[in-house]
Amino acid sequence: MADPRGFLTYARADVPKRPISERVHDWREVYLDHTDSRQVSQTRDQAARCMDCGIPFCHSRSAGCPLGNLIPEWNDLARRGDWARASDRLHATNNFPEFTGRLCPAPCETACVLALTPDAGGAVAIKRVEQTIADLAWEHDLVMPKRPGLTSGKRVAVVGSGPAGLAAAQQLTRAGHQVTVFERDDRLGGLLRYGIPEFKMRKALLNRRLAQLRAEGTRFVTLCEVGGSARRDLSVRRLRADFDAVVLAVGALTGRDAPELPGRELAGVHLAMEHLVPANRECEGDAPTPISARGRHVVIIGGGDTAADCYGTAIRQGALSVHQLDQYPRPPDTPDWARSPWPTWPWILRTYPVHEETGQRRFEVAVERFVGDGNDRVTSVVLRRVRVEKDAVSGRREVVPVSEDRTELPCDLALLAIGFTGVADMPLLEGLGLTRASNGTLSCGPDWATDVPGVFVCGDAHRGASLVVWAIAEGRAAAHSVDAYLTGASTLPAPVTACAREWRAGR
Ligand SMILES: Cc1cc2nc3c(=O)[nH]c(=O)nc-3n(C[C@H](O)[C@H](O)[C@H](O)COP(=O)(O)OP(=O)(O)OC[C@H]3O[C@@H](n4cnc5c(N)ncnc54)[C@H](O)[C@@H]3O)c2cc1C
Ligand code: SF4
Repeated sequence: MADPRGFLTYARADVPKRPISERVHDWREVYLDHTDSRQVSQTRDQAARCMDCGIPFCHSRSAGCPLGNLIPEWNDLARRGDWARASDRLHATNNFPEFTGRLCPAPCETACVLALTPDAGGAVAIKRVEQTIADLAWEHDLVMPKRPGLTSGKRVAVVGSGPAGLAAAQQLTRAGHQVTVFERDDRLGGLLRYGIPEFKMRKALLNRRLAQLRAEGTRFVTLCEVGGSARRDLSVRRLRADFDAVVLAVGALTGRDAPELPGRELAGVHLAMEHLVPANRECEGDAPTPISARGRHVVIIGGGDTAADCYGTAIRQGALSVHQLDQYPRPPDTPDWARSPWPTWPWILRTYPVHEETGQRRFEVAVERFVGDGNDRVTSVVLRRVRVEKDAVSGRREVVPVSEDRTELPCDLALLAIGFTGVADMPLLEGLGLTRASNGTLSCGPDWATDVPGVFVCGDAHRGASLVVWAIAEGRAAAHSVDAYLTGASTLPAPVTACAREWRAGR
């Protein structure tokens, strides 16, 4: 039984961040160690703020946690300091809680009943509790490989080693199938490895999970493009001949570009991932990045996670200045319940820790053109104030200048973080006879099966660029369908359906 008055006793508190003056000079995680005894003791108090309300919207899948994490259950176990049982309940629904504890934007907290009462301190700090349980579980050797009891003799190929592919692989290996994950990159992890920076999640945690998957029997092959034609690659013919089922977890990695912008071709204007991938590689010990922000005036175009990651990376690389530009108006600091009724995901200003460090965000502005120095290198951007208008019939958005005034910002590194347009062009699609839908994703039926027998899809490749928590949820659900396809029935959990979408209010 939870403490029904805990939220009246304790104010909400998140784990503190490391001082700005310290963290901007290194790549270590921004937040203090959650397993420090003082933080653990405070986390128990935070967990006590959960009153175990009758209908826990926090774990409802559309408004709260897509994984259906059993939040009130593990909040109560954390309150009691029963970390072993809390870890059991957490891992019952989430393969990688140390990833989501760090990376998830926590729709569960938005859907917490206490989010409705900011005067009483606001939502339970669910993410903090999740990360603490996960980190303590590892620290206390509670996370062990779970080897399957029986083996099915069926072989499954998982294409792509991001969170969707890894979740599907772990579920299917534990169900007794022989699973091989193929990854075209040199290291495993997808965007967890080369998109998300070290200061948000240290890669040692990814390596530790991969060791667990290997110990359970999942096999990994890197530098192997499925459908590719190099010597190390796996042809579609061999894929189909050697495996009984295939899971496509290939992500949605095509970055949106803006070729129409005058000056886009100038040196120093890049897609965000051209900046983030080599920066992450450098943190892994590879060669120094060729696209460093050191000593540069950086302008980042876009308003989401990717833009914030470029922002924090540029600061740590030693940028002279950082500006982030968003064409939309500045969102309000608190939810407008009329516009986004609880428990939907509200339109509010999302401030990442990097935004507190230095630099500036500007809203309702768009780049009119990039200006070069005469040697084809960008030196500034010209900005206009704009408004985004939505056509009532087609829903199409148009960016309209609102004045003739123009301002100029110095810029010798411009980064386009304006989204992703879907699954990358790759020979695998043609080889399997699959085409992308108009939004760039791969379609499937309610059982995650594509039109090609035995071929399933999950994660960003199915959903479009999304979140780690959705990738894990989709990987788990697709594993259920693959298991049923191979054996006739499955007891694996299926937290989400292929058509599930989060409840989200429009801008
Ligand atoms: C910069 C950035 C920051 C982000 N930050 C966050 C965050 O803080 N929180 C959050 O929840 N989400 C975040 N996201 C989103 C999140 O990372 C993705 O939603 C998630 O990684 C999708 O997982 P996935 O497994 O579907 O695909 P991915 O992680 O994209 O993995 C796909 C993998 O498939 C491999 N592949 C593709 N084709 C082939 C082939 N033919 N053969 C072999 N391998 C292949 C690719 O190399 C890649 O490794 C961020 C995204 C970006 C870009
Ligand atoms: S995975 Fe995300 S939504 Fe689910 S409990 Fe954790 S923070 Fe909340």
